[in-house]
Order: sequence, then structure tokens, then C-alpha cells
Amino acid sequence: MREVWRKCSSCKKDIYCGSTYQVCSISTCRAKATNYVFCSVACWDLHVPIERHRGDDVAAIEKRAPQHPEVEREAKRVIVTESSPIEDEILVVVSKVKKYISEKSGMNTSADVMNALTSRVQRICDRAIEEARRSGRKTVMDRDIP
Ligand SMILES: [Zn+2]
Ligand SMILES: [Zn+2]
Repeated sequence: MREVWRKCSSCKKDIYCGSTYQVCSISTCRAKATNYVFCSVACWDLHVPIERHRGDDVAAIEKRAPQHPEVEREAKRVIVTESSPIEDEILVVVSKVKKYISEKSGMNTSADVMNALTSRVQRICDRAIEEARRSGRKTVMDRDIP
């Protein structure tokens, strides 16, 4: 079953994931506000007089729709809202911690748990770094873990 990616800006027909579609070579037609996509060159042709395009650089460009509907954009949006300075970066594999807790107990895991685990891991690493430094090493080893 193929999922619908977007609709053609001219005929409103579905453009399926993984299928080819056309975009306009004119940058304003690809800007976020307009973001025209066309199911065929014929549909692209229809918008040319509407947008009053002229000149040699007016062309249809063939592209391929992603395999999944807009999931990538969703994912990116989540990452952006969660993005923070490096020092606040989550140091544990969120999905694996959640899976471990859920498989072991059937419980859910709140997002704050990752922050708490991260600060614990950071503290352990900081102490291990200190320990390795005291021993004159440039490698942190398992024996440095308090
Ligand atoms: Zn169309
Ligand atoms: Zn255009």
C-alpha cells in the first residue's frame, strides 16, 4: 500500500510516497509559503501563466517523493524543540532505557528521567576523568569509574 505524500498544487491529485513529482525551477514557487508540487509536467505547465513566469530559466524539475509521508519533517521538528547546548545533551540511549524499563516493569518513563540519568553519567565521567588525570593517563579506564 502506498501512502499519500502530498497533493498536486494544480489538480489536487494525490502524489504517493516514492513516486516522482515536479517542482518549479523558480525559487519563489519552492519557498516555504508556496512550496508547489506537481504530479506531472502538464500540471506544472498550468501554473506558469498563473504565476506569470517568463524566461529561459522556467522549468519543471523532477523529484522523487520520500518513502514515508512527512515523517522526516516531524522528526526534525521534535529534535529542534528538544535541542539544547552540548552540555545538556542526553548521554543515554533514550529508546533503550525506555525499552528496558518497560520490558522489566511495564512502566512508562518520563522524559525527565533522561536528564537525571544524564547528569548522573556526567558526574561519573567527570570523576573518572579526574581519576585518570591523577594517574597521569590520557585514557579513561573502567577502573576510573567510581
Ligand atoms: Zn496534478
Ligand atoms: Zn513556478
